[in-house]
Amino acid sequence: MRVVTLGTGSPLPDPNRAGPSTLVSVDDQHLLIDCGRGVLMRLAAAGVGAAQLSAVLITHLHSDHLTDLNDVITTRWISTFESTPLTVVGPPGTQAVVDSIESMLRADTGYRLAHHDDLTEAPITEVIELTEGPVELPGGPRITAAPTDHRPVEPSVAYRIEHDGRAVVLAGDTVPCTGLDSLTRGADILVHTAIRADVIANIPIARLNDVCDYHSSIEQAADTAERAGVSVLVLTHHVPAHPPGQGDEVAAIASRNFSGRVVVADDLTTVTIPEEH
Ligand SMILES: [Zn+2]
Ligand SMILES: [Zn+2]
Repeated sequence: MRVVTLGTGSPLPDPNRAGPSTLVSVDDQHLLIDCGRGVLMRLAAAGVGAAQLSAVLITHLHSDHLTDLNDVITTRWISTFESTPLTVVGPPGTQAVVDSIESMLRADTGYRLAHHDDLTEAPITEVIELTEGPVELPGGPRITAAPTDHRPVEPSVAYRIEHDGRAVVLAGDTVPCTGLDSLTRGADILVHTAIRADVIANIPIARLNDVCDYHSSIEQAADTAERAGVSVLVLTHHVPAHPPGQGDEVAAIASRNFSGRVVVADDLTTVTIPEEH
């Protein structure tokens, strides 16, 4: 099982960090969790194309987590040569977002259908909406969803992906909550949004201070990982973001509350289980 943090940024544009997105690969199954700004560039760097995705899992409908879903839909459609529906899993409201994206793309879709004789149908997207329970994907690893707490963004979900006795949990944006605790218990890897509450508290911008209301601080993400007993905590979605490779302070803060291995992710940081050396 391989986890690649494709984008470790936030809504704030950053020359070094794409928007929130993580790739989980099990054999030849590739699952994309969220698809923020620049996702397909980072996906290409990870050696995977839109055509190879088994599904896209959306944690919640904040724009930074799905702004490039339109790119995934179009690029998959145009780079495959037979009907290849894209499965998009997400909380209720996801179908309406996908419908709107397809509507926004209607002119482009029309141009390409008119121009390419071998292109005979518009993109097909199959949406599964849920907040908890198993996600039924044919032939894929076992996936389970659970509700998180990112209010007023509601509903929001986390995903657990399991294969061969190993498990990774993608928390998304959330404050500590029982849904995430239950989903994460006994997993190997937890990928979690982490906010530097200590830094943000000292910046006199109300709109930035608001960020702390509905995200976990590094300490809270570390506490969640410790309670669940995971081996590896992968911190991502850094606000404010530090330069890549300079996450030592973040790691030190997390290590005060979490006894396992802390990975402060940059774009394209890769974690594998079992670990490859
Ligand atoms: Zn976010
Ligand atoms: Zn969010």
